[in-house]
Amino acid sequence: MSTSVPLIVRLLASSVSVAGRAGKIVRDVMSKGELGIVEKGKDDYQTEADRSAQRCIIASLSAQFPKMSIIGEEDNPNDVEDDIPSDWLVVDADKDVLKLECPPGLREVKEEDIVVWVDPLDGTSEYTQGFLEHVTVLIGISVNEKPVAGVIHQPYFKSVDGGEKKIGRTIWGLPGAAVGGFTPAPPPDSLIITTTRSHSNPLVERALQVMNAAQILRVGGAGYKVLQLLEGVASVYVFASPGCKKWDTCAPEAVLAAAGGKLTDILGNMYKYGAAESRPNKTGVLAAVNEELHSFALSQIPQELKDKLAK
Ligand code: AMP
Ligand code: MG
Ligand code: MG
Repeated sequence: MSTSVPLIVRLLASSVSVAGRAGKIVRDVMSKGELGIVEKGKDDYQTEADRSAQRCIIASLSAQFPKMSIIGEEDNPNDVEDDIPSDWLVVDADKDVLKLECPPGLREVKEEDIVVWVDPLDGTSEYTQGFLEHVTVLIGISVNEKPVAGVIHQPYFKSVDGGEKKIGRTIWGLPGAAVGGFTPAPPPDSLIITTTRSHSNPLVERALQVMNAAQILRVGGAGYKVLQLLEGVASVYVFASPGCKKWDTCAPEAVLAAAGGKLTDILGNMYKYGAAESRPNKTGVLAAVNEELHSFALSQIPQELKDKLAK
């Protein structure tokens, strides 16, 4: 690989390849049928797929980019990172992504400046319940607290390419350069909201109620909900509750921004992605595929609800 390719572009290209491998691990664990479910907290689960996919991603990226910080969702205190199956160690990089023009502000970025947020399996509840298309693998790349590139891999997406059936797809975004891996579509004509399927509560429901949406879609995962925005299935993603973490939003925020959209908390503030930031996104999620829809949704959320989340 040419070292003349800027670091951020090489890292994004490697992340695209690694996410695909992690997605295969997610499918393999399900096919074997031994999910090894552990309850981490209330409505918060981990499976063998979450654990193994994270080990694959962290081992592969840290071998290639040893000086950057990588923060993964799953605690694996007993894991020895060099003790993983050799075919989990990915060294490839996506050829098309390697050709991208690096945005000017990112050309000089060094490994030490980068924090990568990894959600090896977003939508674990849905994975255990068989809603497999909701599942994604998320790799978010941040510099100076901001998401600058992201990968959303969907291990169970089915397509046909030249008569051949394919499983899995990888969507990526580099704000200021390009998005890829899907066909962008305009938002729907009427207001369609996408929100949580498995983590609702009275605050979440109150925010949905005031929106007067034509339709509310309840699906799993922050990654999948942002894909629905990108593909014109939904207009706005509303989640007026704590619960999401930095690894849930970093990659989706970057991909959405690269497509002209915006992801903030429910008060309209941007989250920060430095390594020292607290993991929980306490003040919820509000995302839309363009600035206009985002402002509209923000204006609909009552102040009293914003105050409740902010306190
Ligand atoms: P959802 O929209 O409910 O699928 O959530 C998106 C992401 O945030 C998933 O990774 C969830 O596990 C996480 N999340 C949201 N709410 C909660 C919660 N109350 N407890 C644990 N995780 C949550
Ligand atoms: Mg998640
Ligand atoms: Mg997860």
